[in-house]
Amino acid sequence: MIKEQIQELAKNIYNDVVANRRHLHAHPELSFHEVETSVFVARKLEELGLEYHKMADTGLVALIKGDKPSDKVVALRADMDALPILEANDVSYKSTNPGVMHACGHDVHTSSLLGTAKILTDLKSQFGGTVKLIFQPAEEKLPGGASIMIKEGVLQNPTPDAVLGQHVMPLIDAGKVGFRAGKYMASTDELYVTVKGKGGHGAQPQQNVDPVIITAHILTALQQVVSRFADPKSPSVLSFGKVIANGATNVIPNEVYLEGTFRTMDEKWREEAHKRMKKMAEGIAESMGGSCEFNIMRGYPFLINEEVLTANTRGHAEDYLGKENVLDLDIWMAAEDFAYYSQVAKSCFYRLGTRNEARGITSSVHTPTFDIDETALQASTGLMAYLAIKQLGN
Ligand SMILES: [Zn+2]
Ligand SMILES: [Zn+2]
Repeated sequence: MIKEQIQELAKNIYNDVVANRRHLHAHPELSFHEVETSVFVARKLEELGLEYHKMADTGLVALIKGDKPSDKVVALRADMDALPILEANDVSYKSTNPGVMHACGHDVHTSSLLGTAKILTDLKSQFGGTVKLIFQPAEEKLPGGASIMIKEGVLQNPTPDAVLGQHVMPLIDAGKVGFRAGKYMASTDELYVTVKGKGGHGAQPQQNVDPVIITAHILTALQQVVSRFADPKSPSVLSFGKVIANGATNVIPNEVYLEGTFRTMDEKWREEAHKRMKKMAEGIAESMGGSCEFNIMRGYPFLINEEVLTANTRGHAEDYLGKENVLDLDIWMAAEDFAYYSQVAKSCFYRLGTRNEARGITSSVHTPTFDIDETALQASTGLMAYLAIKQLGN
């Protein structure tokens, strides 16, 4: 019965959720600068009669307590930041902040969670337990809003038994969702490397130390960290997308600058790989008469969906949306700061389908033409409300 009530409420609030999403989409703000977004969310929470407090400057946390007695707590998380992308969509709700765009769907997550909050508030008399709403800043930028919110105590007073989060996915049709139990997304570290030699005339290599040839050796050798030292059962990726030598046909440069990314799904191996890559690069440079500065900027940890929670949540999603609308996901080597919650609390991060091929809504996230089929907002609000109520044991 609660399911039908939620479905009815999700239908009733659909136009408001779309309006909120369009407002947020038209007014995107960059990571750690979600000032107006935060004011908007605060006003909407006030309209629902919910008290909130601010964290991590622009983040907000609010509680919805069911009237029935229960100590259980579930946290629902949405992120609020946009990306430095110039929107190319020609829509009425196009970004009014040129060069900034909700191209990762965080406008969808935030407006959905506000819709879910409305549904849960309306149904307060029918469930027991506490729902903690987390609106966090800066998913897109290190050190990640999640890590700051956790440091500031977002997972305390009360401590959630489970944390649920959703993210748009343009590969899945609107109306469907995807789950994966266990390791789901990767840790991500940024690599900044300078290989130093001694530049000079290209015709006199014997008088110089060529950092380009040293770099060629380093790039090839580093791939063996992934292919020879990593456990083949656990994924690892190493890619260098920037290599700048800046010499000329006849000029050997003094140094070569490299930028890359290292991703994996095992914290122990991640530490070991850092040491191996650094040692290998420095050793090769030294053996060839040069030197190497190998700097690693640590990103987010890997994201793990707790097995039992994810199996249960997936089952509840099948109840709510129908079995045919719940899909299995593959491992994805991108990173997401929801991973921080998953490292310290039982967590489940699932994907919300937003694709509509017939209407040409297929662009990837982080592209200037990303958009969603807004019918996904009816599934997203109601589903999360249902998942929360079920997780609380009702
Ligand atoms: Zn993103
Ligand atoms: Zn995102």
